[in-house]
Amino acid sequence: MSDVNRYIITLTGIVQGVGFRPFVFRVANRLHLNGWVENGGSRVIVDVEGKEDSIKEFIHILQNEYPSNATITDFQIKSQQLFGYTDFSIKTSDAEENTANFLPADIAVCKSCIKEFNTLGNNRFQYPFISCTNCGPRYSIISSLPYDRETTSMSEFKMCSQCISEYCTPRNRRFHAQTNCCSDCGPVLKLLDAHGNTVDSSDCVKLARQLICRGKILAVKGIGGYHLCCNAKDLTAVQRLRRLKHRPHKPLAVMARNIESINKICEVSKQEKEILTGSKKPILLLQKKSPEYLPQDIAPNQKRLGIMLPYAPLQFLLFSDETNYLVMTSGNISGSPICYQDDVAVSSLSHVADYFLVHNREIIVPVDDAVVKVADGYEILVRCGRGYAPLIIPIEAKSRVLAVGAEQKCSLCITENGYATVSQYIGNLNEYQTYKVFNKQIKHFESLFRYCPDIYAYDLNADYLSTRYAKEQVGKKIAIQHHHAHMAGCMAENKLSNKAIGVIYDGTGLGTDDAIWGGEFFVGSFSGFKRVGHLKYVTLQGGDSVVREPWRCALSYLLALDIDPQEFLPQINLLAIEMVKSAIKNKIKCFKSSSMGRFFDCVAALCGFETQITYDAQAAIELESIVDKEIYDFYKYSIINTEDGFVLGYEHILNEILRDIRKQEQKSIISTKFHNTLIESTAECVCKIREKTEIKDIVLSGGVFENIYLLERLASKLRNLKFNVYYNRLTPSNDGGISFGQAVAAGSILKENHYVSCGSSKSNQH
Ligand SMILES: [Zn+2]
Ligand SMILES: [Zn+2]
Ligand SMILES: [Zn+2]
Repeated sequence: MSDVNRYIITLTGIVQGVGFRPFVFRVANRLHLNGWVENGGSRVIVDVEGKEDSIKEFIHILQNEYPSNATITDFQIKSQQLFGYTDFSIKTSDAEENTANFLPADIAVCKSCIKEFNTLGNNRFQYPFISCTNCGPRYSIISSLPYDRETTSMSEFKMCSQCISEYCTPRNRRFHAQTNCCSDCGPVLKLLDAHGNTVDSSDCVKLARQLICRGKILAVKGIGGYHLCCNAKDLTAVQRLRRLKHRPHKPLAVMARNIESINKICEVSKQEKEILTGSKKPILLLQKKSPEYLPQDIAPNQKRLGIMLPYAPLQFLLFSDETNYLVMTSGNISGSPICYQDDVAVSSLSHVADYFLVHNREIIVPVDDAVVKVADGYEILVRCGRGYAPLIIPIEAKSRVLAVGAEQKCSLCITENGYATVSQYIGNLNEYQTYKVFNKQIKHFESLFRYCPDIYAYDLNADYLSTRYAKEQVGKKIAIQHHHAHMAGCMAENKLSNKAIGVIYDGTGLGTDDAIWGGEFFVGSFSGFKRVGHLKYVTLQGGDSVVREPWRCALSYLLALDIDPQEFLPQINLLAIEMVKSAIKNKIKCFKSSSMGRFFDCVAALCGFETQITYDAQAAIELESIVDKEIYDFYKYSIINTEDGFVLGYEHILNEILRDIRKQEQKSIISTKFHNTLIESTAECVCKIREKTEIKDIVLSGGVFENIYLLERLASKLRNLKFNVYYNRLTPSNDGGISFGQAVAAGSILKENHYVSCGSSKSNQH
């Protein structure tokens, strides 16, 4: 017979809003243990008394079988004197103690709820807002902490007696489910026409379904905002949606009825299936099967399709026998943030949507769908959104940093007590509406966390609106060089605290010499870096238009090589070419660039891709989409050791590409050889850096590493060369990850006392 003992167990992590206390309660009851469990914000405290054997089993279950949406970062056990409890209870939480810094993410509807949803006779049969302790919206409906019904937009809905009874019964799976409701007491749907007038209908879901079948475009209010939705098989509807949304090329996300319908149109690995069917339900980028089943217009010139499964109960009701695939794209007009407020949605989407399917539960925080992919055997986050946001990542520094991110794909990050909280993707700040959302999100974070930062971290680029915002604040602030932020973030999520080699291939970021960087080799730590190599500078002409019009990059490169551009850019008119030539000669709107993103644009334009792009990195993405994995050839390249570090030359590479173009070589061959050249030359360059520094840890970051072929092949090559290779998985390698990197760098600089008033990371460049 084993002894009776008592312990206090403290679990820290994401334990709120994920059904942790009922889980502990059930396990304790099953094992005949007494005591209590209490929620203290980011902690769950368990006081447990009983037989030692049972307690051992209890602890084992707590550590290994906790709810799938919880994350445990710390587990402490302390022995106590016996108390003599006679039962096991759930204590109500103490609001004062509940200053949690862990915000729960939204969770897709769970299997148990879906089962009820599909069961005729169940009181929640086809009820579009069914949820339980294990599922439902969280982050998008929380207005303050602690997470409780009263602090969410569910507070509007008073539970009926049936729902209250579920809410109060510890053995019920809706015990303390803050989103608990039913058709008697919860949110309701409404169908509106394009002018916002209510459409009379006894069954608006059925009508909505019919409208989709008839080729109509619907704006549907979801969890984190509005979607624009139409039948994905209906080419006319898809083309009309593109035209009205001013989105000519950017891929549209598709929602498929079930996993079988995804299998029919895309290649799905076991790992990918798990991501698709898990509790986050992101948009997953999958390889299309050929011949293409859905119209090409959904993702033109792409090998991959962004696809997801329904995650809000309402979405299950939109499918019918004729519509197994729906376009589900963010409800916005190209460039603007996702609509989430009903009146704004109706006014800004009425010229796109024929009807609006809305409900009366308020969305507090707009959250786009998250985008992920599988590369190199790992799930990689491309855009942080619903289900993933906010990201909570343990870091070394304890200080409170508010990092405001970059300009494009902006996100925010705040740190406190050794944890970073990274916001959802906010968007491109040069759009006024997005900047408003950015301001609102900062205020929301500050009030949620009752937060006053020790320091603000921002980008070196003074033109970014995020930078301007930070500079206007009172208190300490620090600029972090853009690519150092990419590197620091990547190192921190991979828990690398010693010096590493950074290969940062990116679009645009201001360097410490006022040039545009983006093909960078660093040796650095969280708090500082040394630039030990870069892609050779070229003079680019044309400010922002260089990014939108890749032919301008190609032209600048050709002029740098003293090559007549007309032969290689026949589609560009002579006058335009002459204007750029003369601007370069007179140094008008010219800047030095080592950007790898722009080098990709140059090659894409020479290969004859779009001369003007309509979404970010379009040219580079299209160049990657024609890579032929069976080709291993590469072009000649040069690496010169200069006072400035290693300089990777572009002359040989471009000359050979031009020779191939003259020979009318296939584009896919040119593209593959170009990719392979970068892999070879990058590997050679970092080997040279290793010889000098003896550093074997290498991080690959920056937007260019969204290129799966480049990432996988380079990582594999570097591993063969005995490097320890790390890249972004938890945070995006694009500028969506910048805020996290800025926060890590600033926190470290503070910790190491390197902070100088009005300092910038120029002072952190060694
Ligand atoms: Zn559920
Ligand atoms: Zn109810
Ligand atoms: Zn960047």
